[in-house]
Amino acid sequence: MSRIVVLGGAESGVGAAVLAKVKGHEVFLSDKGKIADKYIATLKEWDIPYEEGKHTEELILSADEVVKSPGIPGTVPMVQKLRAQGTHIVSEIEFASRYDSAKKICVTGSNGKTTTTSLIYYLLQNAGLNVGLGGNIGKSYAYQVATEHFDYYVLEISSFQLDDVYDFKPDIAIITNITPDHLDRYDHKMENYVAAKFNITKNLTRDDCFIFDSDDDITIGHLDNIILRCKMLPFTQEKEVEQGAFLRDDKIVLRYEDEETNLYLQELALGGKHNIYNSMAAALAAKATGIDNAVIRDSLATFQPIEHRLEPVLSIKDVLYINDSKATNIDSAWYALECQKRPVVWIVGGTDKGNDYSILNDLVREKVKAIVCLGVDNRKIHAAFEDMVGSANITDALSAEEAVRKAAKFAAEGDVVLLSPCCASFDLFKNYEDRGAQFKAAVRNL
Ligand code: ADP
Repeated sequence: MSRIVVLGGAESGVGAAVLAKVKGHEVFLSDKGKIADKYIATLKEWDIPYEEGKHTEELILSADEVVKSPGIPGTVPMVQKLRAQGTHIVSEIEFASRYDSAKKICVTGSNGKTTTTSLIYYLLQNAGLNVGLGGNIGKSYAYQVATEHFDYYVLEISSFQLDDVYDFKPDIAIITNITPDHLDRYDHKMENYVAAKFNITKNLTRDDCFIFDSDDDITIGHLDNIILRCKMLPFTQEKEVEQGAFLRDDKIVLRYEDEETNLYLQELALGGKHNIYNSMAAALAAKATGIDNAVIRDSLATFQPIEHRLEPVLSIKDVLYINDSKATNIDSAWYALECQKRPVVWIVGGTDKGNDYSILNDLVREKVKAIVCLGVDNRKIHAAFEDMVGSANITDALSAEEAVRKAAKFAAEGDVVLLSPCCASFDLFKNYEDRGAQFKAAVRNL
């Protein structure tokens, strides 16, 4: 038995605390902020001592090991003190994986994680496997290891969760793509962020697989500098590959071991160039898990779009409203604009994460007829696009309701109103789900 201290009292931290308790450790959880009622209820249910609104040093520095929640940056004073005295700090997934022998398919990347993870989960379920879904989606991995028994896990893992891993090893690791995001947490150094993502590969062995986007220069650039001994399965829309997934005419070709499988693009349930990548990654993971081609084809054809990701909401007077609230960085908004076939009234803005909007210039010129800036400080968006759309076609809003009302005024029959904000939501909303929900409610009230 050791003394495990968990820092952070949300999904990940509370899950880790429950697992530590189940495994017979002495546990203490500390959160400097307020702990949500539902997590307090779980801590009480499992009889786990905790504190909120403070970090009591003597209770924390006495830990044998600390599990740090991904939301807590490594720079906070308490973490620095723990490191200075040599206390071992691990992430929740590192801690949980010690107690789990299930096969793990783990997905990280800048964009497309949730979509790809959910697709793979759907594929494995349809194949009749006993599979759990976790990580950043739904219940934490640690909580499930404590309370369930699965043969497989499909885990969505953020770069923050990969910051403190040592022995964690997926059987199949996927990096969907890497574009600048969250650089504020990585000393504003891209290489630190890339290295954190690549932590997902560091323990892969010869029998494991690495699935990655070989059209992504950042991923390929990093691969040039490291040695991986596992099976390499690239996916690409630019060329043919010996093993992996690529495009030929109107289909995706999967090449896995000695077999070639065709998937027709028109049969994919999810549209857009980005979802071809996501479908390729998911299909390769399914092949590597030994799933039948018929199940792969059927699953990719029947998968339902996920809320807040290019989610069609309603068509009103032939104006289609789309909720892409989860597009919180430039690259995701790029793909959202790229796949629009109709003129776009674009709702954009929020907490800027150091965006370089010029990447969107061509798409905005080609597709966007008007812009509604939905944020507290919209100066960067005006500076980037006002000349392009004209000053009469750009305006500001401080609520989802105001944004939808103003967007509806700009829109004509046959247009799309697209909420794809490129930014985090915290200036005006609780989180991206809240932003998407308020957008949908405002559309329904038009
Ligand atoms: P994540 O979990 O990594 O944030 P999601 O699957 O939730 O990714 O998708 C977030 C947003 O990113 C979506 O709104 C969509 O517009 C965009 N997106 C999805 N997949 C990709 C991809 N492969 N490449 C770029 N953008 C993507």
